[in-house]
Amino acid sequence: MTSPSTNRKTRPIRVGTLTIGGGGITVQSMAATRTQDVEATLRQIEILEQAGADLIRIAVDSKADVIALEELSRATDIPISVDLQENYRLADAVGPFVQKVRYNPGHLHHHEKGKSAQEKAHWLADIARKHDMAIRIGCNAGSMAPEYGERYGKDDVTALVEQAKDHCAYMDEVGFTDYLVSIKDSDPRLVIEANQRFAAARPDVPLHLGVTEAGMPPDGIIKTRIAFEQLISQGIGDTIRVSLTVPFENKGQEIEVGRELLSDIAAGRFRSVPKGFFDGLNIIACPSCSRVENEKFIELAEQVKEATTYAAEQNVTIAVMGCRVNGPGETDDADLGLWCGPTSVNLKKGPQTLGNYPYDEVLPALLTELKQILAS
Ligand code: SF4
Repeated sequence: MTSPSTNRKTRPIRVGTLTIGGGGITVQSMAATRTQDVEATLRQIEILEQAGADLIRIAVDSKADVIALEELSRATDIPISVDLQENYRLADAVGPFVQKVRYNPGHLHHHEKGKSAQEKAHWLADIARKHDMAIRIGCNAGSMAPEYGERYGKDDVTALVEQAKDHCAYMDEVGFTDYLVSIKDSDPRLVIEANQRFAAARPDVPLHLGVTEAGMPPDGIIKTRIAFEQLISQGIGDTIRVSLTVPFENKGQEIEVGRELLSDIAAGRFRSVPKGFFDGLNIIACPSCSRVENEKFIELAEQVKEATTYAAEQNVTIAVMGCRVNGPGETDDADLGLWCGPTSVNLKKGPQTLGNYPYDEVLPALLTELKQILAS
């Protein structure tokens, strides 16, 4: 099922039975359950499929995840994309079971340190070709390859666009064409600018749009709407993912909101951005995925929102992240950050770690720090 046509004609890429690019916009989401919990993940796939997902992404971090993935792929017909994150070398193992892989150029440096990003991208293209998979080059502001940060300093937009362009060039060098790009951040303004610049530089490459860690509804929906209205109305975007911090059972909301946004944009129903939306307290929360090791994370994000409403007028950013993979890096730019482990939560002030707390003790510690920030 595809929704409104885009003006910009990108190259169509095949993802199993689905086509992304070339007109039309597909809607996708990600399973938030632990991949090895096959029963729960199948339930998650069912929820997303019933909500109308065109494609479902599943995180794979280990060989045990690959075994679970095989079982999942046998039980569903919906096209599956695998999120490789740091373990890009699992691409060969997942190849027989999925139609697409996502790698993050910012995570390639963690393994095989003697090889360049270019060599690793070439290898991924070869593996994708061998298994007839598409590739998403998934760039995130919170996890950029270190050399781009060094080269472009605080100019995250340029760093992200250049990183994406370089990886497209690596694919082009080996004649691999079934790839698309995403450039995400939690700030819709950065998402808009970076995607506009990338689309101008590479109008042929399909784009996956998303505002990452948009947080809980309604703010998470508003942030996403801001980015999507601006980009899709300019013909930019070929597939979308709405990221919302909601309980597993409500994940279908991501698809429903995505389809509603697309039909509003197609019908010219734009909503103005509330005055001062970007002023005041900003709570960033990741949408959760299979890497969440403790479901108390969602409850904690809701408690943080509730306990900080008194500071709504203050220009403070608080980030609440669900795991130790992306949590440490993606809380660096927030004034206060929480990232969740299996039994405890790490509290940060900017890039500095302040301590590690049990789930039921971290909120008072966060509020104490917030009080200090507001007092200063
Ligand atoms: S921060 Fe971790 S748990 Fe949250 S969406 Fe990203 S990878 Fe998943």
